[in-house]
Amino acid sequence: MKDPATSCLFLEEVVCCLCGHHHSTPFLTAPDRAHFVPGIFTLRRCKNCGLVYQNPRPSPESSAAIYPADYGPYNNLNDDLHPDWQRLCAFIGRLQTQPGRLLDVGAGAGAFLRAMRVALPEWSVTGVEPNARAAAAARRTGAHVIQATIETAPLDGTVWDAITLWNVVEHLPDPLAVLRRLRQLLRPGGFIYMTVPLCDSWDARLCGAYWCGWELPRHFYAFDRASLGQLLNAAGLISSRSACLVGIEYHFTESLRLLINATVRQFTVRRLGIALTFSRPFRLLIRPYLWMAARMQRCTALTIAARAA
Ligand SMILES: [Zn+2]
Repeated sequence: MKDPATSCLFLEEVVCCLCGHHHSTPFLTAPDRAHFVPGIFTLRRCKNCGLVYQNPRPSPESSAAIYPADYGPYNNLNDDLHPDWQRLCAFIGRLQTQPGRLLDVGAGAGAFLRAMRVALPEWSVTGVEPNARAAAAARRTGAHVIQATIETAPLDGTVWDAITLWNVVEHLPDPLAVLRRLRQLLRPGGFIYMTVPLCDSWDARLCGAYWCGWELPRHFYAFDRASLGQLLNAAGLISSRSACLVGIEYHFTESLRLLINATVRQFTVRRLGIALTFSRPFRLLIRPYLWMAARMQRCTALTIAARAA
């Protein structure tokens, strides 16, 4: 059904992907603060298991409308050496000292694949990316990328030592089905790595409705520690290591910018407030908070290495 309030989108009603229940309570409504897709989107909390999920949500035919051409991961052609990618490569290298085959799900324009080529060159890396333009851009840089959704990618018969999903799980229509499939593709002793924004992070608690991790309507799920644990458990996975590695400062300051942008009416004050979040004194001021949040694993994004249970 096409929603009149979101005239460019078709919305569909869904049930909880973890327990199948359809009873839920309203959790949060918010617009698209990042790419301004028209509409107000709704997160609901499952009454049975507590999972927070978008309902109704854009149906598959609306995918192109919610991922605009300037969507960041489709255009990250020059940030292969970003410290976040290097930290993720190092995280893998510490846990798996023997090189092997790695599959990157939601590879975008291939930045992580290129970072792997530099940081862990003995590994053989392949990406899966549904967006044709991003997949083509990745291939032009020499990355091996299959253009398909992870649900339809021809991967059966191949086993992988490592499978990575960087900020991907929350975008998937059925993350449980995908993780169950990926677990089947994992070599014994292999790891599934994922980075997930958690709505019980300190950043989310402080910034409320303006937290950048909601990212409606592209995020179909807002996991917290409990529901992420339930998801892993239901997929037959167990978390063996976790850390806050990526976007530690960015997610907090971006959330503050969204908050200032939406709540400060006076133009000059708003511009000054946003400029302040980029300033060196402000970044020094928030450093103790970020340090403590990272130490307690309460930053926006948590990176997990999971293995078959
Ligand atoms: Zn549920």
